[in-house]
Amino acid sequence: MPSSQLNTDVALGVAIPARNARGRIARLGPVVDDVLSNHRYPPIMERLLAEALVLTALLGTLLKEPGGQITLQAQTEAGIVDLLVCDYLGGELRGYIRHDPERLADAGPNPSLFALFGRGYLAITFDHPVMKERYQGIVPLEGESLAHAAQSFFAQSEQIPSIVRLAVEKRDGRWFAGGLIFQHLPEGEEGRERIHTRLDHPDWPHVAILAGSVKAEELTDPDLPLDDLLWRLFHEEEEVRTLDPIHLRKGCRCDPDYVRSVIARFPAEEREAMVGEDGKIRVDCEFCSSSFAIEPGELA
Ligand SMILES: [Zn+2]
Repeated sequence: MPSSQLNTDVALGVAIPARNARGRIARLGPVVDDVLSNHRYPPIMERLLAEALVLTALLGTLLKEPGGQITLQAQTEAGIVDLLVCDYLGGELRGYIRHDPERLADAGPNPSLFALFGRGYLAITFDHPVMKERYQGIVPLEGESLAHAAQSFFAQSEQIPSIVRLAVEKRDGRWFAGGLIFQHLPEGEEGRERIHTRLDHPDWPHVAILAGSVKAEELTDPDLPLDDLLWRLFHEEEEVRTLDPIHLRKGCRCDPDYVRSVIARFPAEEREAMVGEDGKIRVDCEFCSSSFAIEPGELA
């Protein structure tokens, strides 16, 4: 595959077998602008959603099962941001943020994660439809950034030493978001017990230092292919394997027929209460801002 296809809207899996490390590196370009075009957010919220989207891409592409879904949700008590949701399924990303614009305007140009979220929680949900498994881990939304919160998610909730770096930059009016995650899995890949995972294994600090040396501008630079960036970081390792790239795009799964079937299950009197002044039931998709108008008569 020519490396021009490894610049934006793509994730690449990495393994460093001798160090028992695996990772993902991803960069989003047009996908971020696509997702943001459905919303009208101030720049601080655009940046935050871009960061959350690339984190979601990293976590989603870690899933082995093709039909696996990952949902990242940050929820707060009394924060400027009330709710942030992103999800990933089969290379498709979507997301939205609910926030208080007035309080955001008072928060200054560069609010900290705590200023935005107050006391908040980061929940990551893994859905494996084929295995019919759903797993959710929740950690307090702490530290300076979403990347720190994701690192503590893996340390606390999963007991996997991990390093996460995320960077977002607007270049000539277009957003670019890049990130990497590396993890130490000395007991092998997923599916095996990790009860013997040692947090102090000597291979891990080495990988974490190399991965952590990545610069924000390298993660966001659309002219730097991801395989070249990996080489910069890990060229002294004896073997670095990359997996097939996963191309990423915006995708929403809201579906008028599904919305109709959900509404149809409500009792008749509750459906009546949903009818608006125009005689229709309106249901909005917060991810893509689509609005569905349903004729109450079609549901009978
Ligand atoms: Zn939608």
